[in-house]
Amino acid sequence: MRILVIGSGAREHAILLALSQDPAVTALAVAPGNAGIAALAETLGVDAADPAAVVSAATNWAADLVVVGPEVPLVAGLGDALRAAGVACFGPTKAAAAIEGSKAFAKDVMAAAKVPTAHSEVVDNPAHLDAALGRFGPTWVVKDDGLAAGKGVVVTRDVDEARAHALTLLDGGHPVLLEEFLDGPEASLFCLVDGATVVPLLPAQDFKRVADGDTGPNTGGMGAYAPLPWADEGLVDRVVAEVVQPTVDELGRRGTPFSGLLYAGLALTEAGPQVIEFNCRFGDPETQAVLALLRTPLSTVLASVAAGTLADLPPLEWAPGAAVTVVIAAEGYPGRPRTGDVISGSEADGVLHAGTRRREDGAVVSSGGRVLSVVGTGADLAEARDDAYRRVAGVHITGSHHRGDIASAAVRGEVADPARSNV
Ligand code: AMP
Repeated sequence: MRILVIGSGAREHAILLALSQDPAVTALAVAPGNAGIAALAETLGVDAADPAAVVSAATNWAADLVVVGPEVPLVAGLGDALRAAGVACFGPTKAAAAIEGSKAFAKDVMAAAKVPTAHSEVVDNPAHLDAALGRFGPTWVVKDDGLAAGKGVVVTRDVDEARAHALTLLDGGHPVLLEEFLDGPEASLFCLVDGATVVPLLPAQDFKRVADGDTGPNTGGMGAYAPLPWADEGLVDRVVAEVVQPTVDELGRRGTPFSGLLYAGLALTEAGPQVIEFNCRFGDPETQAVLALLRTPLSTVLASVAAGTLADLPPLEWAPGAAVTVVIAAEGYPGRPRTGDVISGSEADGVLHAGTRRREDGAVVSSGGRVLSVVGTGADLAEARDDAYRRVAGVHITGSHHRGDIASAAVRGEVADPARSNV
């Protein structure tokens, strides 16, 4: 099988690494990729944001399957363009990707499917903001109603901060979503979906705040671990039954079936799991931990989603133990990251690339905010965590920062609780 992966992050590096170890895969390509991925896959010089260009690159390269990593091309309709050209695609249509692209659409689907989620209101006029804020909080949750790469959310007990964030979004022409605060630990559940059948992967937890102790601004994600040693045994089945399957059924009923990876971001509240958000693709950095444990060949899994034959797929096989991902970010991230710093140790095992490029002199240098994801595995979470931080110590980038506490509460037997801690 010849597989083209679209994207340039550590998530795509993790996907390509798993595919590179899969005997059914005969050739791998990527667009646009990065310095680390270039060692595993042919880099196609194509603009991933241009659906027509991706379709012709996929056809010229004779791809049997295109795997779309990021949400932006999916929300823009890349999945539709590929299917229309007869190219198999792992990733939903534009209509189904709206489950991530529009929070208002996601809320509407959840209401129809009776999926538990936070009560919310959209505000698009600053004159209505104060009255709306009065109907929420404390704690206030203020979100950008569109795609914001995980950075459009402010969760705060300070109404002035909530108002200021909402006004900034409104000034930029973005409608604002005010949401009820969901109190409880967070979990991410990735589910393979082929339009009808749902197959969950291992549950994971990610760390969105930039600094230790869940402090500082939200980011695209600073680390993750899988599975969750503190979760009830029945958690995954419950989330599939109460959240994911009803959502998939509702999208099918609307004539916009979802095919690809449906990611449920959950708050585990006293009243049960509630949806914080849906994403229409693999999450970054959880994917780096989850795929490190998958033993079933990934091409079989992805192709069976694209072909609509998930119901025939044998149960997934997982390595025992746990995996931990630690993100190394550039100085300035998540604000204005500095780029161009030389990276040493980036070719070691367990080091997945995100914002990296190879300079003309051969050096690997930083080219984005999240530079690397370092993945450790072990017989249990404590071992996996030690393995990850041992590998982190082998990497050097001037000015970089990473969290030192990824998975540490869970290793101590506590439930890490990012939603509750910093507000
Ligand atoms: P999102 O981009 O929607 O995933 O939000 C980013 C982060 O903000 C989440 O991972 C949570 O930590 C927090 N968050 C978002 N919505 C809520 C909510 N309704 N209640 C509590 N925390 C939230």
